[in-house]
Amino acid sequence: MNHDELAHWSKIAADWARDYHANLRDAPVRPNITPGEIKAQLPKTAPDTPEEIRRIFADFERLVPGATTHWQHPRFFAYFPANASPASMLAEQLANAIAGQAMLWQTAPAANEIEAVMIDWLLDALGLPETFTGTIHDSATTATLSAILTMRERALDWAGNSQGLTNQPRLRIYASAETHSSVDKGIRIAGIGQQNLVKIPTTADHGMDPVALDAAIKADIAAGFLPAGVVLCTGGTSIGACDPIADCVRVAKSHNLFTHVDAAWAGSAMICPEFRTLWDGVEGADSVVFNPHKWLGVQFDCAVQFMPDPTAQIQTLGLRPEYLKTQNQDDIVNYNEWTVPLGRRFRALKIWFTLRAYGLEGLRERIRNHVRWALEAREAIAEIDGCILTTEPRLSLFTFAYRDDVETAALLERINNDGRIYLTQTTHHGKFVIRVQVGQFDCTRDDVMMIPQVIRELTG
Ligand SMILES: *Cc1c(COP(=O)(O)O)cnc(C)c1O
Repeated sequence: MNHDELAHWSKIAADWARDYHANLRDAPVRPNITPGEIKAQLPKTAPDTPEEIRRIFADFERLVPGATTHWQHPRFFAYFPANASPASMLAEQLANAIAGQAMLWQTAPAANEIEAVMIDWLLDALGLPETFTGTIHDSATTATLSAILTMRERALDWAGNSQGLTNQPRLRIYASAETHSSVDKGIRIAGIGQQNLVKIPTTADHGMDPVALDAAIKADIAAGFLPAGVVLCTGGTSIGACDPIADCVRVAKSHNLFTHVDAAWAGSAMICPEFRTLWDGVEGADSVVFNPHKWLGVQFDCAVQFMPDPTAQIQTLGLRPEYLKTQNQDDIVNYNEWTVPLGRRFRALKIWFTLRAYGLEGLRERIRNHVRWALEAREAIAEIDGCILTTEPRLSLFTFAYRDDVETAALLERINNDGRIYLTQTTHHGKFVIRVQVGQFDCTRDDVMMIPQVIRELTG
């Protein structure tokens, strides 16, 4: 395949993409397929000789769409959204065409400088201090890992990087039980050890109890541990829990601990000023992550980390061997020194296209609609015989149960086999509950009201 053929097939692919999206409502959100079905239809080894693109494309159409969970389906209400606005898809195609590598300013000047400006645009859009700076990662998991590594090295005065952890004091990191498993993963990768992630109790509204945080830190210091940092959440994945950021940051700072706020999902909603009370005090944090690839419309992958001062993170992650040096330029930013991988995709382009193509008002209107429609769906579910609302809505996320655990699980299975909508589960206070989140970029009120309709039909 050469570039002329690429141009030819790209046009076919673009038309295919338009039709795919136009017809999604008619497809089940989750495919009806058993594990191994696709594997069984693929050859065991790669071909020795070239195959025609026509045949490869035909196999794609035959095998892939029917075995795909459609994240861009307007009735995808599972997990959290992974929105891909058409403008962001276009930007991604252009980034793919350039196929550059944005590790250093000089390896990708435009990518680098657009990234810096997008960080500023997003700080302003989310109401964060303009004195903050930041960078783009692939995922919130990596951003959180970067923050945890920074907590570790800051607490050890960078002795972990140089000497390893063997003879260092036992580090402690604090988070509530509502924080995402990416925090546990970061703790493991950072060599801190799962046992040293202290889960702080929550209060009745599911946020971290700052008094319990203070007590845990003091008890650890008395026991000879070395507290290093606190990971807080705004919009936890399970039920949307929000820690009281201002109070917890105050406690953390009184012990000189580094704080990181995980707002992977809920961060996008902060473009609407009325939701910012959920992370009151966030300007006091040392690091904040949110995923434009969830609710904002910037297609996967794109996670943004903001920091008032990146120095500690650069000191933790930045290396500058001779082959990565830029001659005669000291005043440039090389974002690889802020992140775990060296190589970096040109992710800023899709932020740029998305923010311009819809405008902040267009994006705000979507999020506000999602929140409003989620409340309407919840009211309708409350009236269905046997349905019990189990958590209050946080933005556009709420949970419910149907009679008992067994009946709830059975209902979820019936809902997802039906295919018109897609929901997933969590456990809350030991009970199996069904999560509903509204946030797909193209969903309408009718799509959302299909949730109570399907539940009514399947429980009637
Ligand atoms: C989705 C999510 C994550 C993980 O995001 P990735 O970008 O997939 O790593 C972390 N924290 C919260 C609260 C999330 O909702």
